[in-house]
This record gives sequence, structure tokens and C-alpha cells, in this order.
Amino acid sequence: MATRTVVIRGVRPYGEGERLDVLLADGVIKQLAPAIEIDEHPDATVLDAAGQILLPGFVDLHTHLREPGREDTETIRTGSAAAALGGFTAVFAMANTNPVADNEIIVEHVWRRGREIGLVDVYPIGAVTVGLAGQRLAEMGQMARSQAQVRVFSDDGHCVADPLIMRRALEYSRALDGVIAQHAEEPRLTAGAQAHEGEHAARLGLAGWPAAAEESIIARDCLLAGHLGARLHVCHVSTAGAADVLRWAKARPHAGSISAEVTPHHLLLTDERLATYDPVNKVNPPLRTSVDVAALRQALAEGVIDCVATDHAPHAVQDKDCEWDAARPGMLGLQTALSVLAEAMVSTGLLDWRGIARVLSERPAAIGGLPDQGRPIEVGEPANLVLIDPDASWTVHGADLASIADNTPYEGMTLPAKIMTTILRGAITAHDGKVAE
Ligand SMILES: [Zn+2]
Repeated sequence: MATRTVVIRGVRPYGEGERLDVLLADGVIKQLAPAIEIDEHPDATVLDAAGQILLPGFVDLHTHLREPGREDTETIRTGSAAAALGGFTAVFAMANTNPVADNEIIVEHVWRRGREIGLVDVYPIGAVTVGLAGQRLAEMGQMARSQAQVRVFSDDGHCVADPLIMRRALEYSRALDGVIAQHAEEPRLTAGAQAHEGEHAARLGLAGWPAAAEESIIARDCLLAGHLGARLHVCHVSTAGAADVLRWAKARPHAGSISAEVTPHHLLLTDERLATYDPVNKVNPPLRTSVDVAALRQALAEGVIDCVATDHAPHAVQDKDCEWDAARPGMLGLQTALSVLAEAMVSTGLLDWRGIARVLSERPAAIGGLPDQGRPIEVGEPANLVLIDPDASWTVHGADLASIADNTPYEGMTLPAKIMTTILRGAITAHDGKVAE
């Protein structure tokens, strides 16, 4: 299925204007024209994409691939397949593997495996602190200078809670031209927390995770980043107050460089789901209220929140299909991201398809420092692309997804828009629900 010359027929770049044909060869976009003569390209693969939308390939700043350590739930191969099927051409793999990606050996392994598999560019994220323990800075410089050229550092799963460690991490990442991606959660306020602190958690007797635990860390880190002139990226923003803090912080003079992501699930689902008592809905940060969802949608539309990242988090059946308190937080996200966004943002009129390109491709590519991703659809640009049928819908079944785990919160839901084809450097990586051999 992989090929180096492709003619795409009848697409609308960004869902705008007249239908065009697109010629891809040598890994780049060679031609955009109303009608490309097929006879001139006898060995080309022809994709009839009449009415489909062409966007730059998606970039996920926040994926858990679970290799090394939990290959029973996901591997770099199965995660790469899920990414390609979800329209992604690049993913950043979080550092909370076992062993932790806090040194150049692990990040080079993840980087190399991603390249060998070749379905999506896998960029390892390096841990900020050794073993994610929050005590001592990891060898960020070694990871930056390794073959993997790590530029994004995160202890995700844990907050870099100590303000002095965070300050040093920001200073060090600045020297490496990197960015610290912070999982904002003041641990003293969330000890034992099981769900968003509100009426639903109270009714079920679940210990609460207050919004202020997230918002206070974001405010602190925005102030630190501004003071130091360093780059801060805020992971999975989940509350209305957090959006307010970001709006304020970004408007300050000497704001530093602050960016933020929101997950698809925090744009669609609320803590009303606690009523099911099904741990598939347990996630960190937790599902919040409908007021939070509305504020997050607005902040994403305005650009206060820069981008969408999946926080794709596969878990084994025994870690999800158990008592709520014992279940691990997290849910699958790669293959449902586009459709959840279509539901939450496009069908509501908050974003058009150009806006989807911004939040799923252009901004995450810029934040992650990828010069060949999130590029405009123009002649001479890299052929990292995704084709979407905006009129199709599909029903989600966890068992059908490419991940080994099946912990999707969208089980049985019918969602709009479908990924038809994903193209990485001119080669088809996924088409019609199947990945390239
Ligand atoms: Zn996190």
C-alpha cells in the first residue's frame, strides 16, 4: 500500500474552495490543480477522494505508548497504528514508561522503534526528574543531544510540584531550546482524589479533585516562565478557571512563552458520567462540569488554549474493569480525536476545518518544534497529510480499535467525520481503516 507517487482526486484543502487534484511525489506536494492528467503518472496510486477534506497531518503532543514496560496494553507498533488510523503523522510519547524515559538510552530506543515501524514519527518526551520522582533533574542535556534530539520534557502523570525544581527545569530547558510540559496538579490538594470535587463525587462518596489544585499550579508556572523567559506548555487543561488563568497570563507583558493543550474528552464529557460508576470514565485530570466544558471549548476557539492533545492512555482490563478506587486513570484517544472534535467544535460552529488544522496540526507542530509538520498545503511542502470524510459517521467499538487495550469512553457512540487516508512523507500509512503493510 505504501507508495511514493500519489494522485488525490477531488479534495478540498481545509474544506474551502473548489475541488482540486493533488500530486504527491518524492515526499512533497508537487502539484495542486483542478484536474491532473493521470496518464502522465502511470505508476501513481490514485485516491478517489471526491468531497473529502485535505488537512495537514495531525500532531499529538501527548501520547502514552507504554513501551517499554507495559507492552500488554500498547506497544510502539500498535500505538503507531492507532495514530496513523487517527490521522496523525507525528506523536510525542510521554516519559512515564517502565523504565522511565529519563536518559538517552530509553529515548533513543523509543525514537528508533518509531522510525523502524514507520507509520508515524514518534518523538520521545524526556522526563524532567529522575524516575519522575520530582527530586532531582534528569539528564535533560544528554537526552537533547541524543539521536532522539529531545526538546519536550515532562513528568506527566506527576506534577513537578516543587517550585524550585520547576524553576531549575525551566532554566535548563531554556538553555536547550526546549519546553517543559507540566501536568498541573498540586499533589497536597489531590491526595487520594478520585473524581472532580463537586456534587457528583459527593453523592458517590468519592474523594474530590478540586479545580484549584490545577489552577494554582498553572498560575505559579506561568509566573515562573515569564520571570525566566522560558517556555511552558500546560498539559490537559480541564477547568474554566484554568482557561481564565491562561487568558490572564498570556496577556501579561513579559509573559514568556506559554502554550496549553486540552484533550478531546474534556471537550465532550462531563462528571455526570460518574453516575455510571464505570471506571472507563476515570481520568486525570478528571472529567469536570458542563460549565468547564463550555469554557474550554470557547478558550480553544479563541486560541487561549493552543491545541488539542489526546492523552491517549491505554490500560489493561484488570486495571480498568475493577472498583473505581482501584482503577487506573486514563482513556484511549488517538483514533477518536478527530471525530470528538468534529462533534464538540465543528458541529457547534466553534471551529471550521481550518481551525481544526490549527489545533490538531499547526500549533502542536510549532510547540513541539517540528519543522516538517503542520505545514501549509502548498506546492513544495512536505506531504504529511490527512483526508477526512466530513459527512461520514461511525460507531466506536473498543475491540475494533488498533490499540491492545480497549478502554474507550465512547463505546457504542456514533460520532461524525471519518479519517479516510493518512500520508507520511508521501507514503500512505493508513487507508480505509487499515494501516499500510
Ligand atoms: Zn497528565
